[in-house]
Amino acid sequence: MKISDLKINGITQPIGYFLENVSVSWTVEDTVSQLADEQYVEVSKSQDFAEILCKISDKDIDAGCTILPVELEAYTRYYVRVFVKGNLGDEAVGETFFETGKLQDPWKAEWIGTKEGDDFHPIFSKSFQTQKEVKAVRLYICGLGAYEAYLNGERIGEEYLAPGLFDYTKEYQYQTHDVTKMIHADNEICVTLGKGWYMGRFGLEGKTCLYGDKMALICELHILYEDGVREVIATDDSWQYYGSDIEDSSIYDGEIYNHTLWDNKDNGKKNAVVLSMKKEGMLIERFGVPMKVKKELPVTEIIQTPAGETVLDFGQNMTGYVEFKADLPMGIRVVLDFGEILQEGNFYNDNYRSAKSRFVYVSDGTKEVVWPHFTYYGFRYVRVSGWIGELKAEDFKAKVVYSDLDRTGYFECSNEKINRLYENSFWGQCSNFTDVPTDCPQRDERMAWTGDTQAFAPTACYHMDTRVFYRKFLHDLRNEQIKLNGGIPNYFPNQGNLGGCCAVWGDCGTFVPDTLRKFYGNKADYKTEYETMSAWVDYITRECATENHLIKKQHQFGDWLALDGVTKQSMRGGTDEEYIAAMYYYSSAKKTADMGKEIGASDWKQYELLAEMIKSAILKEYFSETGRLAIDTQTGYIVALRFGIFKDKEKVLEGLRKRLRLDAYELKCGFVGAPVLCQTLADNDLIENAYEFLLKEDFPSWLYCINLGATTIWERWNSVEADGKISGTGMNSLNHYAYGNVAEFLYESVAGIKSLGYGFKKAVIAPEITGRFSYVNTSYKSVYGKYVCNWKIEKDGRLNVHVEVPFNCQAVLRLPEREEEILKAGSYDISYIPSKDVRCIYGENSLLGELVKNPEAIRILENKVPQAIWLGNGDAEGRTIRMKELKEMFYMGVNPVSCQEAIEELEKIVVG
Ligand code: BGC
Repeated sequence: MKISDLKINGITQPIGYFLENVSVSWTVEDTVSQLADEQYVEVSKSQDFAEILCKISDKDIDAGCTILPVELEAYTRYYVRVFVKGNLGDEAVGETFFETGKLQDPWKAEWIGTKEGDDFHPIFSKSFQTQKEVKAVRLYICGLGAYEAYLNGERIGEEYLAPGLFDYTKEYQYQTHDVTKMIHADNEICVTLGKGWYMGRFGLEGKTCLYGDKMALICELHILYEDGVREVIATDDSWQYYGSDIEDSSIYDGEIYNHTLWDNKDNGKKNAVVLSMKKEGMLIERFGVPMKVKKELPVTEIIQTPAGETVLDFGQNMTGYVEFKADLPMGIRVVLDFGEILQEGNFYNDNYRSAKSRFVYVSDGTKEVVWPHFTYYGFRYVRVSGWIGELKAEDFKAKVVYSDLDRTGYFECSNEKINRLYENSFWGQCSNFTDVPTDCPQRDERMAWTGDTQAFAPTACYHMDTRVFYRKFLHDLRNEQIKLNGGIPNYFPNQGNLGGCCAVWGDCGTFVPDTLRKFYGNKADYKTEYETMSAWVDYITRECATENHLIKKQHQFGDWLALDGVTKQSMRGGTDEEYIAAMYYYSSAKKTADMGKEIGASDWKQYELLAEMIKSAILKEYFSETGRLAIDTQTGYIVALRFGIFKDKEKVLEGLRKRLRLDAYELKCGFVGAPVLCQTLADNDLIENAYEFLLKEDFPSWLYCINLGATTIWERWNSVEADGKISGTGMNSLNHYAYGNVAEFLYESVAGIKSLGYGFKKAVIAPEITGRFSYVNTSYKSVYGKYVCNWKIEKDGRLNVHVEVPFNCQAVLRLPEREEEILKAGSYDISYIPSKDVRCIYGENSLLGELVKNPEAIRILENKVPQAIWLGNGDAEGRTIRMKELKEMFYMGVNPVSCQEAIEELEKIVVG
């Protein structure tokens, strides 16, 4: 038996994080036992656990989240030991630690900056000696806008763009680094500052200096000697500064790194100026994990474009920067421009709008490795200008940067295009998890749009362990929410405190906590989350709702970018916006009531009652007396089914079927409908429709984008036209992840791994087996351990299923033609031949347009119902006729008996 994945508040061995409600989670692996017979957690201040601060045993233990009731002291390391004994007698011990930062201890350090007029990017430095044997050294640091720190020439930590993005009007989140191993007798600490989000151009209005107009640094280096003495090296006016080679930096515009900027820069060292910025109550421990280089990608091709440019292709759209080896003569100026797509073979980035997204390097003749320090780029292609001599692919590397989270989900199947789609969804997360969940990583936005976050959160929680990431985001959001009196803004940071909160986007405040609860059951966070949730629902009730519990006419984004708007390029879709808003109001009230009930809040019933009233109002306003839904759009039906609001479910399904038929099964949904389309169909016995949408290749569809070479998810279904031309530059990103939430369907239905209740302590494993795939392999590492479901259809129609259930967990297994089974922890292999041949996918529901792609089907149809051939090869109307509809088409000369015979023969076709 082995204990793994020990995390404190979702973080591995956190040092100096904001740790409210400390909790530990762990998994148990390599065991023959299925259940825990005995478990306890101990906390101590000493590594040998000589003195135990607290011991939590069995009844309060939860491997997904055990709260540690410790009074935290500053600068203290706490050791946490987990003991587990299995029902078969094997046992294991796992240990981890966490360390507090400064907590309430006042800062001795001062904020320092440069003298008036010294507006360059400064490097602050300080030399110091250590006196005696050193035991431990910590650096507590925050730099505005962004900083990079070095001790004795070595970079401290691997973070990029620290301290990150948060509400700088409210707080400064500082970082703590363990630098014990870097300390010598004689030392120099140097910190370079950049503009970051704090000062550089950022936000929809394109303003600079959003939060301040002066770069500033505060840090304390705590040297703890073996004799117990603590020495503090703190920023003050004894620190010196000089200009760095960073001529300019900006999140949107990139960086100019110029080695010829100064004649003799360090000779002009000056003493720092103490700034009168606030410290008390403003400096708090960090919430988020570092942004780090998580992958490195080589150049896949050097392209000489028709326009005569040299362009590097990295083969993948991503977020990060390019590092290169330079050995260039003095004064040579190299310019890198970043783009997502080529147009007519040439470099292109007009869709970045005003974001220059450029890196300029000016050499002083030094041979060195170069990278930008205070910016990031969203890109696949890089145009290199000004290079002298041979440009070698191996000298350039793309560094993929995102928040340092662990990957938890894997999916792979027999269809390469679906694998690519899945990868694109994953890359969408990598690209947009840059300390906050952004809409896109390349153009002049890159903000945490709440609607996008809400839409993608379920998939994000399958792909990665997002606990710490979303906790930070919800904290940021809560700061904004307080300013809006409960309202949740459309994006974070909400510069100017704009109101105009709207549905779906604002509902991020209830949907994200609910998603986190479903995935992690993280009760340590429930109380804080409930504050956000209830305040949001109260806000809607107060500001947006009508007296009879519907939503007033006001600004809404509606089914953003749906294709049933005025034109295919319209931003607003065709689904009634007040209807969507009322549905989300209901769902937010319901989720709040559920959460309130869970934590025993005194007012939860009020939200339950409210949800009921909203529901009645919706049923009255948007449904006919006998139950037809009056909002006749794909998204209209999907939302009703998703939230379970209807008078008569069959009537809603009937309406949806008709709608889909009239739409020729063409996808119309936008940001509201599309992310949940396939999963909602699957949840409502329409799995065949879900598979049709998933596997459709012509426009608009998920695979249309794949066929056009997409390596990330696009913002619009038609971001790129079939001829490879970008459809417009106004608002068109190739790396927006909302539609990537289709991966939820891959995990939850195609592979069938789904939480039962909250937190994955119990799961349902119910793969939707289909001959459209010959195999599907999936795993999801929950906070309790890894669930696996691999299924394979053998050539002879045998179905092999491999399932794994983690220790101390349970899964309900549902497979075709088999009794439901409850599986305890363990590994299971099931093999059988279902009587209904799973290799066969055709039948009365097959679309003629699909059948005419299969040679065997063509042969059958030619024989029995030749009309099917020309209809199936005809226009959208003919292609979307199903065999059962064809059977009724006597007026086309179809003989129902031979049509039925054809259906029976089609049912026997073995695909794959
Ligand atoms: C963003 C979005 C966002 C939308 C809302 C766009 O500019 O990129 O993804 O949700 O605006 O209107």
